[in-house]
Formats: sequence, C-alpha cells, structure tokens
Amino acid sequence: MSEKESKSSLKQIGIIVAALGAVGLLVWSWNTNMTLSQVKLGYYCLSCKQTEDLSAYRDDYPTNWRQYPGAMSDSVLYCVLCKKGPAHPVNECETCGSVFILHLFPKYDEFGSPSCPKCDDAYGQMAKSKGIDLMPKALNP
Ligand SMILES: [Zn+2]
Ligand SMILES: [Zn+2]
Repeated sequence: MSEKESKSSLKQIGIIVAALGAVGLLVWSWNTNMTLSQVKLGYYCLSCKQTEDLSAYRDDYPTNWRQYPGAMSDSVLYCVLCKKGPAHPVNECETCGSVFILHLFPKYDEFGSPSCPKCDDAYGQMAKSKGIDLMPKALNP
C-alpha cells in the first residue's frame, strides 16, 4: 500500500465514523421523541380506575403487555396493576384539554380523529345515558 492510498483509506474511515455518529444521533433523538409522546398518552384501567403508563411495560411482552380479549381495539390492554380490567388508551382534546378514554364508546369525526365528549356534547350525553364515563375525574383533576 503506498502512502497516498493509506491516507485516502484513513479519510474513508473518517467519513464512515462521522456517518455512524450522525445515524446514532438521529436514532437517539428519535427515541427521545418517542418517549415524550408515549408519556403523554397514558392508559386508564376501567376496573381499578388507575392511570398507568403501559409503554414502560412494552419490553415485558407478553408478560405484562397483553391485548385484552374481545376489546374494540388491539390497543386495549390487560391492566398490569389489578390484572383484571381492560386498560384503555386515553386522548387529550386539542381544543378543550379534556382527557377522555378511547375505544370504549368511540366516535370519530370526519377526519378520523376521535371525537371529544366535551366538545361534541351530543356524543358526551349519549355516552352518559348509557352509563359510560368517558371523562373520569382521575383523568381530569
Ligand atoms: Zn386495573
Ligand atoms: Zn374537547
């Protein structure tokens, strides 16, 4: 290997190292973003009425991260706290800030987003008349 060649291969290694560093940074910032959004979207158990961040248990699959059989959506999971109830993901309304339960008595607007039982009063009343509390106090202190 001549001196010139070894210099150029050193340069190549330098480029590869820089590229790997950039990818690592990208993955790191992506993970950080994922964590932030998951913390915001928690779960609410219909049995023990507790909120929990089930995303923390995702690595435990299938011990703690299990779908609830017969649920309306595959994002409804077994509660890891009481092991009884279905834990439903919750959503925060961008308009009024109310936190409501998803996949329990769902209604979707024309854009396919879940409707807010507070902003859509008719929907909220309908759920209430069926005895379904879509906005429990635990989620809306
Ligand atoms: Zn529970
Ligand atoms: Zn709302």
